[in-house]
Amino acid sequence: MLLEFDSNAAFALGARMHDFDWGIVVTNLDGEVVHRSEIRIPDNAPTSAIATLKKGVEATMASVNRDRLMPAIGLGTPGLVDIHSGIIKSAVDVGWFDVPIRQMAEDALGTQTFVANRSKVGALAELWCVAAAAGIRDLIYISIGTGVASGIIHEGQLYIGANSSAGELGHTTVLPDGPLCPCGNHGCLQQIVSGPAIANRARERLRVTGGSLLTTLAGGHPERLTAQDVFRAASQNDPLALEVIEETASFLAIAVANLINLFNPALIVLGGPVGGADHLLTDMLQELVPRRAMAFPLSAVQIRTSSLGSDAGAIGASVLVLQEASKLLFGDA
Ligand SMILES: [Zn+2]
Repeated sequence: MLLEFDSNAAFALGARMHDFDWGIVVTNLDGEVVHRSEIRIPDNAPTSAIATLKKGVEATMASVNRDRLMPAIGLGTPGLVDIHSGIIKSAVDVGWFDVPIRQMAEDALGTQTFVANRSKVGALAELWCVAAAAGIRDLIYISIGTGVASGIIHEGQLYIGANSSAGELGHTTVLPDGPLCPCGNHGCLQQIVSGPAIANRARERLRVTGGSLLTTLAGGHPERLTAQDVFRAASQNDPLALEVIEETASFLAIAVANLINLFNPALIVLGGPVGGADHLLTDMLQELVPRRAMAFPLSAVQIRTSSLGSDAGAIGASVLVLQEASKLLFGDA
C-alpha cells in the first residue's frame, strides 16, 4: 500500500514578541503558515505580555480546527533566554530581567510551552521552510533590527551552547575602539550595523554635508530618519546613503566571514526588519565576504535575503513545537 505524508494532519502554534506586539501563527507539519494574527501588548510588564498572549491564542483557537492543533505552544521572545529553564535572563529592549516566561505562559495557557530567543528561532524557520528542501542542514540566520543576533543550525539542530547564549553575533567586536555598547564593550557589531546605528550615522553625515535625498525622505526632520529610509535612498543611488550602507556592509562582512570560517555553513540568511528589508546589503556582502573568508569554506556557502519577512520568528517558534511532534502526538512510546 502506498502512503503519502499528510502535512495537514496536525498543526502547531507559535508566537513571537517584538516591539510590544505578538505575532501568532499556526503552521502545518511542513512549517507552512495556515493562520496568522497580531495583537498589541499595552505596556512592558511581563504579566501584560502573557495576558495579551492568552487573548491572542484564544482568538486563534476560535478560528482554526482545534482537534488537529498539537497540545503545546512555542514562544520566540526578546533577550537572552535559557531554553532549559524557560527564563529570560535579560531583555534590555523591554527592561526584563529573570522573567520565568515559560512558567508564566504554562500557568496562563494551561499548555506545554517551549521558549527561545526570537531571532535564534528564525534560523529554525529558515531550516524548515526553505533550506531543508534543498538538503541544507547547516545554516546561520542573522537578524538585524534594533539589535543584531544570529541563530546557528548545525546538522539540522539549533546550536544553543553551554547556557543557551550561542549566536550573540551582535556583541562580537568588529571595531576595537568603536562606539560603547550597552553590554559594556566597545565596537560591538550591533553598534554599527543595527537599524538605529545606520540611521545615526546617516544623520551625523547629513549634518555635515546636507543636500541628500535623505532630507526629503525625513520630511526635513533628520531625527525622523530610519534605516529603511537610508536603504530607500541608497537604492536610488543617493551618494550619502550609499556610503553609509557600504560602511555597514563592510563591517557586517567581517562578522559573516568569521562565521563562515568558524562554522562552515552552507547558507547564510539575512533577516529581521533591517536585514531582510532590502537585497542591497546581501548584494554588497556577496562582493565583500570573499575578500575575507577562506576560499574552501566560502566555496560551500550561499548568502541570501530571507523570504519569510516578519513571520520568521513566529514560524520558528512553531518549529519548537513541530520538533516535538512525534512525542506530542504519539507519546514517549
Ligand atoms: Zn555589546
